Amino acid sequence: MANGFGSDDPSTTTPAEALLAHRAAALDTAFGKADVAGRLAGIVAEADGRVVFTTSFGLEDQVLTHFIVTAKLPVTFATLDTGRLFPEVYSLWQETEERYGILIRPYYPRHDTLELHVRQNGINGFYVSRDARKSCCDIRKVEPLGRALAGASIWLTGLRADQSATRGGVKLAEADAARGLVKASPLIDWSREQALAFAQENGVPINPLHAQGFVSIGCQPCTRAIRPGEPERAGRWWWEDDAAKECGLHVGQNGKPARAQATTVEVRQ
Ligand code: SF4
Repeated sequence: MANGFGSDDPSTTTPAEALLAHRAAALDTAFGKADVAGRLAGIVAEADGRVVFTTSFGLEDQVLTHFIVTAKLPVTFATLDTGRLFPEVYSLWQETEERYGILIRPYYPRHDTLELHVRQNGINGFYVSRDARKSCCDIRKVEPLGRALAGASIWLTGLRADQSATRGGVKLAEADAARGLVKASPLIDWSREQALAFAQENGVPINPLHAQGFVSIGCQPCTRAIRPGEPERAGRWWWEDDAAKECGLHVGQNGKPARAQATTVEVRQ
């Protein structure tokens, strides 16, 4: 599979997948050379359904929030509260809602699934095995994301291509066949320095942890500050191989997010 779009074999591509691919390619062609405001306005205008922006309150997400609110675009703001976020994220969440006069819809893990996962793996089981880590990310992030994006036509993200090797091939607009929508990343060709300069020039509230070396901020127990010269995402799941440093929101096997296997794991006593 070359593009996260169902299959390399054109004969197995469904009409719905082909339509999504066509829409993504058209958006990429139409707005790839526009600035961020132009990209957002064009993508939202072309949407044939709900547009959802998922924010985790990182630098890029805050910049994108500023653009969306400034242009008064009809976009639904959503966030995934894993229950393991830094206190600074919750403070910034409130500050962002107050600063921009918006409500950000929260999505939480299913309590019964999470309770079973913690019983089976321990509260910090993600340090013990990759399977436990992926299961935790599935339960706390991937499944809630599915509900946040249910019925959406466009999924807006704050991804940048140079955040990591795994994100290098991301385009402005891509078909997400598994979720039945187009994923659009208007800051795709921005650098971190550009985003930081924009935030400073426009008074965009950002997480104070960024100034302490926390460049990419996820859940508290799975995020550390990076040292000078380290890749941006070196502080995420630092005990794992670099190739696997995604939580399942933006990658998946055969274009589909991996699902938790909690019910097959031996229950700890
Ligand atoms: S980042 Fe860590 S705590 Fe957060 S969902 Fe993934 S494994 Fe669990």
